Amino acid sequence: AKEMGRNQFRFFTESLHEQLQTYIRFSREMPKSLEDENFYLLYQPQVDLKTSKIISVEALVRWKHPELGIVSPLDFISIAEETGFIVPLGRWVLSTACRALRELSDLQYDDVRIAINLSSRQFRDPELLNMIRQALHRYRIDPARLELEITETLLMQDIDLAISTLTELQQLGVTVAIDDFGIGYSSFNYLKTLPINVLKVDREFIKDIPDHLDDMEITAAIISMAHRLKMKVVAEGIETDVQKVFLEEHHCDVGQGYLFSKPVPLDELFEQLAQQHV
Ligand code: C2E
Ligand code: CA
Ligand code: CA
Ligand code: CA
Repeated sequence: AKEMGRNQFRFFTESLHEQLQTYIRFSREMPKSLEDENFYLLYQPQVDLKTSKIISVEALVRWKHPELGIVSPLDFISIAEETGFIVPLGRWVLSTACRALRELSDLQYDDVRIAINLSSRQFRDPELLNMIRQALHRYRIDPARLELEITETLLMQDIDLAISTLTELQQLGVTVAIDDFGIGYSSFNYLKTLPINVLKVDREFIKDIPDHLDDMEITAAIISMAHRLKMKVVAEGIETDVQKVFLEEHHCDVGQGYLFSKPVPLDELFEQLAQQHV
């Protein structure tokens, strides 16, 4: 493992042998870390581009490793997915996010929503609906305040299952966002058959605005097609004012990215919300 910046480990530079060792080590250590409460959530604001207000946040998980420091989800989610640990971890993410929604309500921020990421194994878990229903009930949360982000790759794996699960989620009243849109293989023609509320344009299309004209054209086209299908559009990874202005001009609804805020702990989110409410 190579150390990057302060306390940040990234494993992508590892050899195959090192990757295998990491796999074995992480699959053994992760369950214990969940018990020891060494996972935590950060929340990244999503801003209404018309009003500049925070209308929702995306919950992003971090692992505070006793020896390695903060481990990125890019380094452990795929391992958790393979070993099945993603199911208990995902349950913890859901319940922690619902508890945060309760805290937001208690502070009168009833209109702020939380989006959580669902992995493929979670989406296929027959207990998913029950688990969500229970978490919402336990913390007395309006289902409309919970959003589930799923990737287009996940949806494509089993379209019939996707349709039936999405329909059930829709009936439950939670909203569904399609994450990382544009880098997979789904077409609009097929998307229109799925009950999806929100489309998140992948950072890949945003990051080279305004230098790459083709990215700008694709982004504009995605926004207008999504609107025609009655979906709200969130742009990910906005880092500059120029990108924000471009997206505003093309009627993108919501922006997320370092320009507005990096992912922050809950108390810091409360501070940001307090500031915009004065
Ligand atoms: P994602 O769902 O696409 O999340 C967005 C990622 O982009 C986050 O990385 C976020 O910190 C980063 N990001 C946000 N704004 C900017 C920006 O302006 N510039 C740049 N360069 N990056 C930005 P993060 O937190 O490292 O998460 C990485 C991925 O790990 C997520 O990608 C998601 O696929 C996965 N992940 C995170 N938390 C969870 C979780 O609770 N469950 C599951 N299943 N996956 C998760
Ligand atoms: Ca996401
Ligand atoms: Ca994404
Ligand atoms: Ca991504």
